Amino acid sequence: MKNKILVIEDNPLNLELVTDLLETNNFMVWCARTAEEGFHIARDVSPDLILMDLSLPGMDGLAAARALKANPATRHFIVIAVTAHAMKGDEQAVLNAGCDGYLAKPIDTRTFAATIARFIALADSRATDKETTMKIL
Ligand code: MN
Repeated sequence: MKNKILVIEDNPLNLELVTDLLETNNFMVWCARTAEEGFHIARDVSPDLILMDLSLPGMDGLAAARALKANPATRHFIVIAVTAHAMKGDEQAVLNAGCDGYLAKPIDTRTFAATIARFIALADSRATDKETTMKIL
């Protein structure tokens, strides 16, 4: 069965790149341009993993991750934060918000799909250990 990925990203070019990479590598992909739209899709399709852009119009990605992780119906979804602002301190903010991992833009197109697959495999074998999750990056 194909893994289901929800991409929450407001930049059309990033959304297209990530979607193409995932679909080429046999993932099923749903897209949302806002956190609010992403919540609806997440409840409908139960994605295996959510790629969460941190900079979104309206509710930002960290607030969205906190909301997902605070809700018993959605807290089990793997949430991977994606941000262009790769700075010291970001990782801690991302983990504090409940995200399961972190990817910095620009994404590495050669390794991206494999990294996503490893996040899912790791979650499946669980080990809900955030330290371990971060180490595969
Ligand atoms: Mn954005």
